[in-house]
Amino acid sequence: MSAIATNLQAVRERIIRAAQVVGRVPETVTLLAVSKTKPAADVLSATDAGQFEFGENYAQEGVAKMQACSPNATGGGLVWHFIGPLQSNKTRLIAENYAWVHTIERLKIAERLSGQRPANLPRLQVCVQVNVSGEASKSGCQPQDALELCRAIATLPGLQLRGLMTIPAVCDEAAGQRAPFRQLREIRDAIQAAGVPLDTLSMGMSHDLEAAIAEGATIVRVGTAIFGERIPAIV
Ligand SMILES: *Cc1c(COP(=O)(O)O)cnc(C)c1O
Repeated sequence: MSAIATNLQAVRERIIRAAQVVGRVPETVTLLAVSKTKPAADVLSATDAGQFEFGENYAQEGVAKMQACSPNATGGGLVWHFIGPLQSNKTRLIAENYAWVHTIERLKIAERLSGQRPANLPRLQVCVQVNVSGEASKSGCQPQDALELCRAIATLPGLQLRGLMTIPAVCDEAAGQRAPFRQLREIRDAIQAAGVPLDTLSMGMSHDLEAAIAEGATIVRVGTAIFGERIPAIV
């Protein structure tokens, strides 16, 4: 078994245990393997081990890997998620190549992605990134702006609004880890109560996926625990 296959198995077991501890069905948590900075060969090792959803932070790097992993351009059964900062000059590349985008924080970028999504592809699946207290990257919309942004995005024809995403600051103790995830869940609940359906909470990484699952994560984004340390280290 490759190291990546062994690591994947360990992460899957963590997800199952974390779900069971809080009485959730493990299958309600999707594992997104974050392959940023790692070569296409690592992605292929993961696919050999049954992993088919991948997250990338740099638009062009991800597209190059998609091409390397599915030379027949059919997508190869892989689902690619864009999880990095969104720049206006990259929206077309993203709209034309990715299945999901997790990091929408402004309506203007959402409108560009919607307009640039090719008509022959399914709608781009999107999450709004929210800057909950102590968010590491300082990106994401403010919690009080999330409802209005979600309402506007829900009307865009090229996008399908799925939910919310966050990246909390690193925290080593379990109780502290759960607070920002709980906050994101409560924002999701409030938006749903206001009539905007959301089925996705994208939260939790290598060091805090248990806390995120305890608070309702439906997608955990895991890089280091699957592919090893990144060099150079990139958050
Ligand atoms: C890099 C990254 C991850 C994965 O982080 P690890 O700590 O390596 O698991 C998850 N989400 C986002 C947005 C990232 O940039």
